[in-house]
Amino acid sequence: MTLREVEEPRERVRIAWLELSCLACGEVAGYIEDDRLVRPVYPGGIRLERGRPRCGRCNALLFGGQRGVALSRQDIG
Ligand SMILES: [Zn+2]
Repeated sequence: MTLREVEEPRERVRIAWLELSCLACGEVAGYIEDDRLVRPVYPGGIRLERGRPRCGRCNALLFGGQRGVALSRQDIG
């Protein structure tokens, strides 16, 4: 008898992320998940002003950098 592992057909969590970095600070301010969830790397790192992300430190506009798809929050970045 052959034992087969039956995988439950459950939906995998996929997070499309976009890195937001500040050119003035030269640092990554945070990430946008799935085009809607803003997640700063430190509290207050990203400020939204009229829908545009700004650096919480120097108030410069943040620019999108690397992007990718992660299977979990820990894989982002
Ligand atoms: Zn900055």
